[in-house]
Amino acid sequence: MLNLTPQEIYQRSALRINPCKTCQPVGALYAALGVHRCMPHSHGSQGCSSYHRTYLSRHFKEPAIGSTSSFTEGASVFGGGSNLKTAVKNIFDIYDPDIIAVHTTCLSETIGDDLNAYIQDMEIPPGKLVVHTNTPSYVGSHINGYYNMMAGFIRYLSKSRGKPHDRVGVFPGFVNPGDMRELKRLFTLMEIPFILFPDTSEVMDAPMTGNYVMYPPGGTTIEAIVSLGDCPRVFALGELTSEEPAEVLSRQCSVPYDLVPLPIGIENTDTLLTALSRWACREVPYALEEERGQLIDVILDAHFYLSGKCVAVFGDPDTVLALTGFVLEMGMIPKYVMTGTPGDAFVRKATGLFSRYGLAGCTAKASADLFDLHQWIKNDGVDLMLGSSYGKQIAKAEDIPFVRVGFPILDRYAHSYFPLLGYRGALRLFEKITEALMDRQDRDAADEDLELVM
Ligand code: SF4
Repeated sequence: MLNLTPQEIYQRSALRINPCKTCQPVGALYAALGVHRCMPHSHGSQGCSSYHRTYLSRHFKEPAIGSTSSFTEGASVFGGGSNLKTAVKNIFDIYDPDIIAVHTTCLSETIGDDLNAYIQDMEIPPGKLVVHTNTPSYVGSHINGYYNMMAGFIRYLSKSRGKPHDRVGVFPGFVNPGDMRELKRLFTLMEIPFILFPDTSEVMDAPMTGNYVMYPPGGTTIEAIVSLGDCPRVFALGELTSEEPAEVLSRQCSVPYDLVPLPIGIENTDTLLTALSRWACREVPYALEEERGQLIDVILDAHFYLSGKCVAVFGDPDTVLALTGFVLEMGMIPKYVMTGTPGDAFVRKATGLFSRYGLAGCTAKASADLFDLHQWIKNDGVDLMLGSSYGKQIAKAEDIPFVRVGFPILDRYAHSYFPLLGYRGALRLFEKITEALMDRQDRDAADEDLELVM
């Protein structure tokens, strides 16, 4: 059943099988959940909204709040203006958020709803805000939706008010709450004041208290998003995810930015900390040097089990590129590197990594799907798969060790509480990878070859 993918590869242009991405509003919803007391609003049908919320809830095992314009046939014909007007009034009356973040859907984009005009025309209660972004799902992926929503908040809210402050902006990329907590720890250790935007920690990893709270304590405040316009600098993490919002802020408020790779693995974390060290004119503290040294130590200890192993890496573009770098640092071969999100820059960056390490015969592809990956693996296998839960069927069909990493992970618990970012994140990733490979070795060993000490 899982193994029906044919080995023979043929070119497809109009069909995706087992996609390696989801739709733009999922990313927009996630970005909006990282804003304090914000109600994300899906301007489309109830089915879209249910899908987006369910998708996030399945990954985080937390409720993802969201409202909808509840399109029916009438809205499809006459436009969704009156639905949105009614929705905004009801949401403020009933759920009392400070801000509503509207994203569009395929249907509202197709009928050409003008959200700018709708929002300008509606009555918004004093002290409340409505922002929007366009997220047509037939273009891009949830990653585009995520950065489009960030850019939407910045366009509406961030202002250069001539009140410079010392907090740098930090755009975290599309990462888990555990990563956001790790970023906050790194900036705190570097003694650099910051505004993290968006910030889903204390929202999508809020503790069980016995009481349901619609707006948990976390999330970037509206005031902080406004203040981004007076930041001395922005550190935008994940070059393919964070450049757009950093550019928008730069154009709007002349805030300079450093665009750095997602800090997964040794070199990428070094790059971020070096940039921070230069900015703050401060040495990297010993606590972080120690973590780096520990990471290198364990990689050296286990290099027999890692060196030369072939890996397939798939998922979101910045995560995959950063994981590819880490795989290379551990002496492994990233044989197949793919993302479902479109973009030539992904392939350029991946092939740049292959050539830096002198590798030939590795494949990188954007706008790809997991059917592609399965066919490649059928023709020339790998020792390990690294990616979202959607690789599970391939791993089972081909009997390949599989480490779940990235988004979405739908069939495991607690992963989003732990970081992948920073040296600590890399240490955890290293542990998961070595365990998967060594478990496999144990399982395949003959009784007389089974080692207790490895
Ligand atoms: S119709 Fe479009 S916006 Fe709605 S769930 Fe499907 S892809 Fe996403």
